[in-house]
Amino acid sequence: MTSAPGTRPFHVLIVGGGGTGGALAHDLTLRGLHVTLVERGEFTSGTTGRHHGLLHSGARYAVGDAESAIECIEENTILRRICPGTFEENGGLFVAITDEDMEYYDEFVKACADCGIPAQELTREQALAFEPNLNPSLKAAVRVPDATMDAMRMPLRFFATAKRNGADLRNYVEVLDLVVNNRVVSGAVVRDHVTGKVAEISADVVVNATGPWSEKVAAMAGVDVPIRPSPGVMLALRGRLCNMVVNRMHRSGDGDIIVPQRALSIIGTSSWTVDDPEELDVPEDHVQRMYEEGAKLIPDVARAELRSAWSAARPLIGSRGDADTGRELSRTFKTYDHAETDGVEGFVTITGGKATTLRGMAELCADIVCRKLGVEAECRTRETELAPHSEAYAA
Ligand SMILES: Cc1cc2nc3c(=O)[nH]c(=O)nc-3n(C[C@H](O)[C@H](O)[C@H](O)COP(=O)(O)OP(=O)(O)OC[C@H]3O[C@@H](n4cnc5c(N)ncnc54)[C@H](O)[C@@H]3O)c2cc1C
Repeated sequence: MTSAPGTRPFHVLIVGGGGTGGALAHDLTLRGLHVTLVERGEFTSGTTGRHHGLLHSGARYAVGDAESAIECIEENTILRRICPGTFEENGGLFVAITDEDMEYYDEFVKACADCGIPAQELTREQALAFEPNLNPSLKAAVRVPDATMDAMRMPLRFFATAKRNGADLRNYVEVLDLVVNNRVVSGAVVRDHVTGKVAEISADVVVNATGPWSEKVAAMAGVDVPIRPSPGVMLALRGRLCNMVVNRMHRSGDGDIIVPQRALSIIGTSSWTVDDPEELDVPEDHVQRMYEEGAKLIPDVARAELRSAWSAARPLIGSRGDADTGRELSRTFKTYDHAETDGVEGFVTITGGKATTLRGMAELCADIVCRKLGVEAECRTRETELAPHSEAYAA
């Protein structure tokens, strides 16, 4: 049972309406806090609404980034429980095409076991029985619990449930500046892009959940959050070329994931780093590379018609100079209580991670917010079934 917003003792302002902000609004509302979320555009219009739509099993990260892999498999299991009907239960294959891929095979299978990721080893014939369009010269494959999700509808279920429980969710409202006095953040100056009005929203804690924009928003409070925005290109090809998520079995590289989405096949991705998350171009050579690498997994990719190509920026944690391509940086997430890291009260940042791990990120961040406010309330998001995504827009 949640109390009415007017009776709630503390007000938290969340900046950023991607999956991370939405999941946090849900968690804090369930813990009895009064929550306002502001998003400068449409909800999920940042990186969240633009990714492949792959519910990661964690297998992609098992060899090089065990922390992210374990987060993914834990959250994959929880999300299937709390979001029934949202995922296509199609599973994923990691496919070895070359001798070099086979050299990675044993390490991959062992790493999946070490991270608790169920992995079923398949012969070439078994893999082709699952996916007849695979490259017939494949050598072996491993089946893992990847799945397809709708990149917008899954997180919108968190928004919908937060709204049902009293959160105030405002889209097209941009934070122009933070209100900071004597190293205490007490609110934000916002512009409503529909009415044009500028106003101030005060809060006991402000949470920066702006993904690749985290560094910019943190700078409004005079603190540094080292984010390397890392864009990647994705292609939507006409035709459903596979029914399972198909991955190449090697260290993460370009064009090595194919995700079936409705009647399309999404191929991704590349990875480079930029200074500004608005720098989202779609280089032609990346489009060609997606075609070339994708066709190594499924030869029909080479002949498939391009419906669209786009890019999105990952919010990877790392300073300038730490990375050239972004693949060197972990896919895990981080929460900063800026009172502890920078001596600035009333301000918390949550960034990094994956869409797959949005609930777990929110849980950790909500624990920190509650601790700061002296609120003792258990996280209930592991078991709370989410409302339908359509409720996020209900009047
Ligand atoms: C190419 C690519 C492929 C990916 N594929 C997958 C995948 O298949 N599966 C998976 O699990 N993960 C995937 N990811 C990762 C995943 O998309 C991100 O980790 C996740 O979406 C980040 O969500 P977020 O809410 O933290 O950030 P965002 O979704 O970017 O949300 C931040 C929001 O803050 C808003 N904002 C910024 N500044 C302000 C301001 N001043 N005032 C108000 N609002 C503001 C922005 O408009 C934005 O909507 C992929 C990422 C990339 C780049």
